Amino acid sequence: MKYSNKKLSIENIKVQSIAKKFGTPAYCYSYNQLKENINNFKRSFKSFSPLICFAIKSNTNVNLISEIRKLGLGADVVSMGELMKALKAGIKPNKIVFSGVGKTVEEIKYAINKKILLINAESKSEIFEIERIAKINKKSVNVGVRLNPNVDAKTLSQISTGKKENKFGVSEKDFLELVKYINKSKFVNLKCLSVHIGSQILDVKPYENMLKALDKIIKKTNHSFEYIDLGGGMGIDYRNNKKVLNLKKYSLSIKKFLKNNNSKIIFEPGRSIVGNTGILVSKVTYIKEGHKKNFIILDVAMNDLMRPALYNSIHRILPATKSRKISNKTYEFVGPICESTDKFLTIKNFQKLDEKDLIVICDVGAYGISLSSNYNVRPKPIEILIKNSKINVINKRQKLVDLI
Ligand SMILES: *Cc1c(COP(=O)(O)O)cnc(C)c1O
Repeated sequence: MKYSNKKLSIENIKVQSIAKKFGTPAYCYSYNQLKENINNFKRSFKSFSPLICFAIKSNTNVNLISEIRKLGLGADVVSMGELMKALKAGIKPNKIVFSGVGKTVEEIKYAINKKILLINAESKSEIFEIERIAKINKKSVNVGVRLNPNVDAKTLSQISTGKKENKFGVSEKDFLELVKYINKSKFVNLKCLSVHIGSQILDVKPYENMLKALDKIIKKTNHSFEYIDLGGGMGIDYRNNKKVLNLKKYSLSIKKFLKNNNSKIIFEPGRSIVGNTGILVSKVTYIKEGHKKNFIILDVAMNDLMRPALYNSIHRILPATKSRKISNKTYEFVGPICESTDKFLTIKNFQKLDEKDLIVICDVGAYGISLSSNYNVRPKPIEILIKNSKINVINKRQKLVDLI
């Protein structure tokens, strides 16, 4: 994404022409950026060639998932719907892992029938349930057990998952008991130890602590795990301050870990694969100058992009056409929804905007469309993929008739 002649464009397609042709709000993804992210990820860890399972929940667009599959990735799913989408996008079952604390009987049966690589169980009860279903169906099912390593991911509390107060995974004590239990079972095979300590992690330290915890517990089990699934959580640079997770350093720590543990590594990245591939194009509906605050009211809202309302997260906002005229006022960029949390960002000294001007919200490829809803009976935005300087509509704008 860059400005040329003051006009913002993705892969040489002007944001302005996208808005003109397809309307706003519109999600736009860059294929080149996607490819670069995936290649960079692979390159960083190539010394032990991990299985990279894209976390479908970060972006559930089947066409995009299909592109991700063509670039060599498998899938991490957390529901039957996501599993169906991964299969529809052509991902082979032997590259799919299933996570989540509350898999239902129906979901477990479906996963067993589809012969996916691993069901990563998160409780004793779930292991008993998988065993019961496998026994009825006379099958032997490959499972992982998710450990809660009790390490602090040092990220937002809402997206931290690896501490003992979180609902995810099992404690060390339960883990050790489950290893013994599963090793005696004829219907479940313990293939994997899995962890996922949280999301938007920018520092290697929490991962290093996690690896230490894994090393310790593996020694105690005396079990040889075919796979170690390290989850995802690699952070990206939302603030444009160049702070990103050092994948090379993480890779070195894993290499060290693998000296004692001869397992295949699985990753489940979501955000780091798609986060910076997407922008959300929006038009200014009104500008409202108040007594205490000034508002830029956009045609995009929290139903289209939930992260700021849900986590107070920051997404940069850029004008579609650059000008030198800077406003000396402070503006809050808000949506039209009847909620005070329906706001995106407060900006001082933004360039002067007029009603009907276009802006883009940056880095919305992950947890953008996948967290969107129809709140206020608002149709979901169109999704567009720019590939080889061509515009591909990969999901149509929802129509009001579909909602009413
Ligand atoms: C959400 C999630 C991921 C992906 O997290 P990112 O921060 O998007 O990389 C991976 N594994 C599990 C189990 C998850 O719940």
